Amino acid sequence: MCALIFGRDSTIWNRDIDRLAPQNVANILTHVTGADIAQVEKTTLRAYEGTLFEHHNANGMCRWIVPLGIFHRSRRRPGLMFCPQCLSEDANPYFRRCWRLAFSTACTKHGCYLLDTCPKCESPIEPHRSDMQGRGILPQTGLNVHCWNCSFDLRATRKIEVINESLLQLQARLEITLDNGYVDWAGNLAMHSMVFFDGLREFIAGVTSKRTQDRLMKSAKLGGISLKGWPRTGLEMASLPMRRELFRLLTIVLEDWPDNFIELIHECKLRYADLKGESDQRPYWYEGVIRREAGGGYAPISKVEAEAIAASVETRYGHFSVDVARALSGRDISAHIPERLPQPVLDEVYEDLLTSIDHQIAGTLDKTERACLIRDKVMFAAGRQLGLSESELAELTLDRLRALVPDEVAVDFSDVARTPEQVRAWAEWYWKKMRIQLRPQIDEESLFTSVRTRSRFSHSSIGARFQKAVDVAMLRKEIPSYKHWFEV
Ligand SMILES: [Zn+2]
Ligand SMILES: [Zn+2]
Repeated sequence: MCALIFGRDSTIWNRDIDRLAPQNVANILTHVTGADIAQVEKTTLRAYEGTLFEHHNANGMCRWIVPLGIFHRSRRRPGLMFCPQCLSEDANPYFRRCWRLAFSTACTKHGCYLLDTCPKCESPIEPHRSDMQGRGILPQTGLNVHCWNCSFDLRATRKIEVINESLLQLQARLEITLDNGYVDWAGNLAMHSMVFFDGLREFIAGVTSKRTQDRLMKSAKLGGISLKGWPRTGLEMASLPMRRELFRLLTIVLEDWPDNFIELIHECKLRYADLKGESDQRPYWYEGVIRREAGGGYAPISKVEAEAIAASVETRYGHFSVDVARALSGRDISAHIPERLPQPVLDEVYEDLLTSIDHQIAGTLDKTERACLIRDKVMFAAGRQLGLSESELAELTLDRLRALVPDEVAVDFSDVARTPEQVRAWAEWYWKKMRIQLRPQIDEESLFTSVRTRSRFSHSSIGARFQKAVDVAMLRKEIPSYKHWFEV
């Protein structure tokens, strides 16, 4: 396939294409497969940008991604893992994207360890070479899951069961965090996943440092887990057996965070200088603990520091948020930088968003899609003009609306609804003429219903619809969240 679409002499395999995901390759794949660009991007490691790491680093190492050590077309390092059970259960075998991540050591579905070399000849896994040069392998449709070097069928690999239940739990937790983009961690119900993973990466650098390791050896808690020989170059360069050992240690140290870790700090006299890892900035959930317990000390925050924290939040997340700043730095910096605090959405921006929805309405021939967009328009206008939160919108009935806005005016679609009365007129019209097209259940009283569930929206679905509308209108900067929309 590669020879056909990229040409026989293309340099496609001389690079880590999963990681680099070159735009031209993605474009061609979109063209030949009919998948849209978003689907193609989801198959790449670049798509973890913003949830797992901040910037995808095209040259050199990338945090959390195990390198392949590519030399010409061959891979010198085992950077791709696999679960033999997953591969053998697949109708069309494929390698999972997370099998390139340094925190993947086990398959949570099958309760077994992942492997990263051929069990027979110990060659790294190189699926592209199985087809191109595997001896004794017949070409077939679908992916070849034989060792390129000795033709061993990887699906026949003996499964190594994980005995340690907490290791599987930790693995599952990391995967869910990555999927969701947030995690309930360190007393923060919805910590941004990148804040969590950044801290975890620094934490790993800290506990694997040579001096911390020497001190940890004294602890009875760790039951002889040894990270002797851990590479100075960091987690991504550690061998799979080493990473397994590390995650065994993490199950103990991360449990009941931060209590177990604090006990270890005192038992082994761990030091701040050894625990502080590699970068200059550590998320507060980790930094706070090691400063307090391992003697780093605190200094009062200055305007300059507050500015630096705010700037770092903005580059990472696209806009400033007091909550993210607190999760990153542990400080409430809002008093230092009042000018950065989010401003309510302006009336012009309100109109821009509704106009963008109008354009979408005009652009679709699908009747249901149109009805959904009209519903969104009326719903967002109601949220804005009546100052309703997502939950209040979800529960809004016609009776409630009439109670909120007792006065009636004639409906006018030539203009954007700018008063509660105009919104009521829109909603009355919507109730009579449009709502039925979304086929709400007969006893459903809420004004705004989901076409999928046929009942009232959940507040999170309203949030998701809103975000989508904002993205389509390219107003993310002007409308950072729904909160800014309705709190005028
Ligand atoms: Zn599996
Ligand atoms: Zn082999």
